[in-house]
Amino acid sequence: SLILAFETSCDETSVAVIKDGNEILSNVVATQIKSHQRFGGVVPEVASRHHIEQITICLQQALAEAHVTYADLTGVAITYGPGLVGSLLVGITAAKAVAWAHQLPLIPVNHLAGHIYATNFVQPVHFPAVALVVSGGHTELVWMPAEGEFKIIGETRDDAAGETYDKIGRVLGINYPAGPTVDQWAHAGHETFQFPRAMIKEDNLDFSFSGLKSAFINTVHHADQVGTSLNKQDLAASFQAAVIDVLVTKTTEALAQYPAQEFILAGGVAANQGLRSALQKAVTAKGIPFVMAPRKLCGDNAAMIGAAGAMLQRHGAHADMSLNAEPGLEFEWQAAVPH
Ligand code: ATP
Ligand code: MG
Ligand code: FE
Repeated sequence: SLILAFETSCDETSVAVIKDGNEILSNVVATQIKSHQRFGGVVPEVASRHHIEQITICLQQALAEAHVTYADLTGVAITYGPGLVGSLLVGITAAKAVAWAHQLPLIPVNHLAGHIYATNFVQPVHFPAVALVVSGGHTELVWMPAEGEFKIIGETRDDAAGETYDKIGRVLGINYPAGPTVDQWAHAGHETFQFPRAMIKEDNLDFSFSGLKSAFINTVHHADQVGTSLNKQDLAASFQAAVIDVLVTKTTEALAQYPAQEFILAGGVAANQGLRSALQKAVTAKGIPFVMAPRKLCGDNAAMIGAAGAMLQRHGAHADMSLNAEPGLEFEWQAAVPH
C-alpha cells in the first residue's frame, strides 16, 4: 500500500507518504511553535490559520520528496480527532479533496492510535499489548488485545503529563513547549525537593498531575516571596522524578493485570530520556519486550497517521465525504466492527 497521510490536530502541519505501513517515503512537518510561544501555549485560531497556509506546501513537498504522484496512491489517511476542531478541519478538508479528486479511499485515524503506531517504524506490534500514551493532551494506559482493538484501562483525571511539563516549565521561565528543556535540566540536577506522587498507592490505573503542578508552583512562588533562589536544575530533577515514579508504578501495575506480550511507549512525552530509560528498565525486568517510537516520531507527525491508517485500511476502515472533525473523539475502537 502507498498511503498519503495528513495530521493537523494541534500545532504541527504534517503530510507523509508511507509505504506498506512501515516505510517512510516522506514525512514533512511544519511546526508553528514560534507563533504560539509568546502566548505560552497553542492559540486555536492562530493554529488553524497556520494550517491553512502550510497544508498545500506540505502536501506538494511530501509528494515530491517521496517521488510519487497521486496515481500511485492507494489511500488517504487523516486524523479526525481528538484535537482542536479548527485545526482538524483543515487536514480533513485537504484529505477529502485529494480522496475525492483522485478516487481514493479515505481512512479516518484516531490521533492516539497514530502515536502508538509510530512504533511500527521500529517493529510490528505484537499482541496482546499494553501501551502508555503520554502527550500534551493525554496520559493513557491502553490495552490492545488484538490488532485494531484499543481499550483505555487508565487515564489522567486532570492534567496530562505533557501539559504539566509545559506549565511548570513556564514558572521556570522556559518557552512553550517546555518538556525538552525541563528534561535537560532534570539530568543536570538532583532530587532535593519532595513532590507528591498522587494516586500512586490507589488501586486503579489512573493518574493525577494537578497536585504535583500546584505543589511545584507553590514552592517556586513561596521562594520568590521570601527572596530565596532555588536551584532550577534540582527543581526540574525533583519534578521529573515524581512524574516518572508515577508513570512507572502505574505501568508496572497495568502489566501485572493484563497479559501483555509487549509494552509500547508513545506520545510527545515519550521523547523524555529519563522516562524512556526508567520504563525500559522496569518493563524488561518483568520479562516483557519494550518498544518505543523513534525519538523524532514521538511528537505529532503524519508518518504515524499513515502507519495506523495502513493497519485500519487492512481492517476495512473507511470514511465518506461526510467525515467530520471529532475534537473529543473517544479512544475505544474495534477494527473488526464497522465504524
Ligand atoms: P495530544 O497528542 O494529546 O493530542 P499533542 O499532540 O499536543 O497532544 P504531542 O505533540 O504528542 O502532544 O506532545 C507534545 C508534548 O510533549 C508537549 O507537552 C511537550 O512539552 C512534551 N514533550 C516533548 N518532549 C519532551 C521531553 N523530552 N520531556 C517531556 N515532555 C516532552
Ligand atoms: Mg505539538
Ligand atoms: Fe499528539
